Amino acid sequence: MKIKDRKAVSFHYTLKNSQGEQIESSRDRDNPMTYLHGAGNIIPGLEKAMSGKAAGDQFEVTVEPAEAYGERDESGFQRVPAKHFGEGRRLQPGQLVTLNTQQGPRQVTVVKVGRFNVDVDTNHPLAGQSLTFDVEVTDVREATDEEVSHGHVHGPGGVEH
Ligand code: ZN
Repeated sequence: MKIKDRKAVSFHYTLKNSQGEQIESSRDRDNPMTYLHGAGNIIPGLEKAMSGKAAGDQFEVTVEPAEAYGERDESGFQRVPAKHFGEGRRLQPGQLVTLNTQQGPRQVTVVKVGRFNVDVDTNHPLAGQSLTFDVEVTDVREATDEEVSHGHVHGPGGVEH
């Protein structure tokens, strides 16, 4: 069965940045990643590369920033009052923290910690990077009507609700 819209797909992957450093790997966990094809569950460049593949296929794909987590936005640096991070939190540069913004919770990277203010980078940590995925498709099945209407996969590796 080939991967196309309305298929539920499971795959293992190892993700490396343009310096060849491993960022993460589903192989470190027991379960592969599962997603609904055509629903924007994964980054666009990877979803495109998955199209037409079948269970057992292995491939490597490099995805440019525009098809991954976007280009870096240099206006993404912001100075935030330290109190927004909660009392007594010890922040370290490079740390990822969740900040409650008017647009909802957002993951930011701590750049500099001052006494009253914290400088953060609101860019996604992988913004501006070309990403290489080493992929092995482990399973392809028909998605259920319910999964298609929810826009995600249910069960192991998917959303449990
Ligand atoms: Zn659901």
